[in-house]
Amino acid sequence: MEERKPLSFDPERMRSFLLSMERELPSHLEKLYQEALAGDVPIIRPETAGILRVLLKMKTPDRILEIGTGTGFSALFMLDACPARIVTIELDEKRAAKAEENFAEYDRDGRIRLIRGDAADILPDLEESFSFIFLDAAKGQYVRFLPEIMRLLKPGGVLASDNVLQEGSILESHYAVERRDRTIYRRMREYLWAITHDDSLVTTILPAGDGLAVSVKL
Ligand code: SAH
Ligand code: MG
Repeated sequence: MEERKPLSFDPERMRSFLLSMERELPSHLEKLYQEALAGDVPIIRPETAGILRVLLKMKTPDRILEIGTGTGFSALFMLDACPARIVTIELDEKRAAKAEENFAEYDRDGRIRLIRGDAADILPDLEESFSFIFLDAAKGQYVRFLPEIMRLLKPGGVLASDNVLQEGSILESHYAVERRDRTIYRRMREYLWAITHDDSLVTTILPAGDGLAVSVKL
């Protein structure tokens, strides 16, 4: 399918236009968002959050799996969008401790369960399946997690994978990518190829935020 006419807009102007349409966050989420930005903690972008919220309202999953908790913003954001049970995995001790505090304060019903450790070790031990999976961990690991993700995702379930465009560097040729980034680059390309060509998935890659791939399992 060929594109007919080159798009002619400045992506930054488009981005601020779209962001100007976003509604304000509930106050506890706004607070966590500002804290994460100030503390240099990685966190989903507002446009990514906006897409997740629509997907969650459409899907209303009963169980969500998140890989990459950070300090818990996205889990609490997803909980605000739908009253699911959420299992979330975080490798970094300090971030997990902060997330635990945030969950104790803002998840009063105890719907979120944090599992500390490497998702590569934890995923194989999970038994119950999920109708929504949010993948937001180390970008070089996505392709390695995929077989377990496919096992854990229910038919009809949605997989949202964040940061798949790697600030645009995914478009570059292999040679233009700095040597130290090449492994991640190659693995992310493998991941995108896998989720777009797997016959049991239907995938679209949205160029919003840092790139969000949305897949449905048939
Ligand atoms: N989803 C969070 C941000 C997550 S940032 C939010 O928007 O609020 C990505 C997180 O993934 C980091 O905190 C990092 O420590 C964690 N991570 C990276 N590799 C991981 C792995 N193999 N297993 C579990 N967590 C991992
Ligand atoms: Mg991310």
